[in-house]
Amino acid sequence: MTLQDLFTHNRAWAAEMEATRPGFFTSLVQQQTPKYMWIGCSDSRVPANQITGLEPGEIFVHRNVANIVVHSDLNALSAIQFAVERLKVQDIMVVGHYGCSGVQAALEGARIGLADNWIRHIQDVRHRHSSLLESLPEAARANALCDINVIEQVVNVSVSTVMVDAWARGQSVRVHGWAFGVHDGLLQDLQMSVSGPVGFDKRYRSAIDSVQAKWTAQSQSQSEFQSQSQLQALPA
Ligand SMILES: [Zn+2]
Repeated sequence: MTLQDLFTHNRAWAAEMEATRPGFFTSLVQQQTPKYMWIGCSDSRVPANQITGLEPGEIFVHRNVANIVVHSDLNALSAIQFAVERLKVQDIMVVGHYGCSGVQAALEGARIGLADNWIRHIQDVRHRHSSLLESLPEAARANALCDINVIEQVVNVSVSTVMVDAWARGQSVRVHGWAFGVHDGLLQDLQMSVSGPVGFDKRYRSAIDSVQAKWTAQSQSQSEFQSQSQLQALPA
């Protein structure tokens, strides 16, 4: 596919939108009024609008490598502030994805370049939860770290000055943690939703426990499946 193809597709898409929904673009010019903000990974396999079936104007998106929200990252914080204070979004979702190269690199301690400094934040998460991760079979650790990273980033969003101020004003806005399966196209709710400044410690603990339970169960059922298939494969 060439760059010219991208323009050709764009012209066809715009024409089709206008034909099926006359006035679609002129209504977008007035104002964006998205209800949702998506904080996701830059990975090309995780496009917010397509996954959620939302149209232009319906979801405000911030993406970076491995969906990290760092307290000193003015880019992410500015996007969150704009979404909360100007657009008044109702829900913010931090969305990780399985098979994330950033999470994998953090798990392995691999050197990949400048991004090492960024991924260091996930290594901090890995260290914080090292006993949980070590309790899981090696094959499940990257997926579990993907989930845990999302939960930790939900906390980071929730304790940001933007959210603390919004909740102090009584604004209704929630933060959620989701994970996307590149292998099946499905979103999973990681049961880490925060709607105010107090009492989310309990939810945090139970979300982390659920991650451990989920990946322990998944690994057990996989190893049972494997041993059954090995038994079936044995000559009678
Ligand atoms: Zn990723």
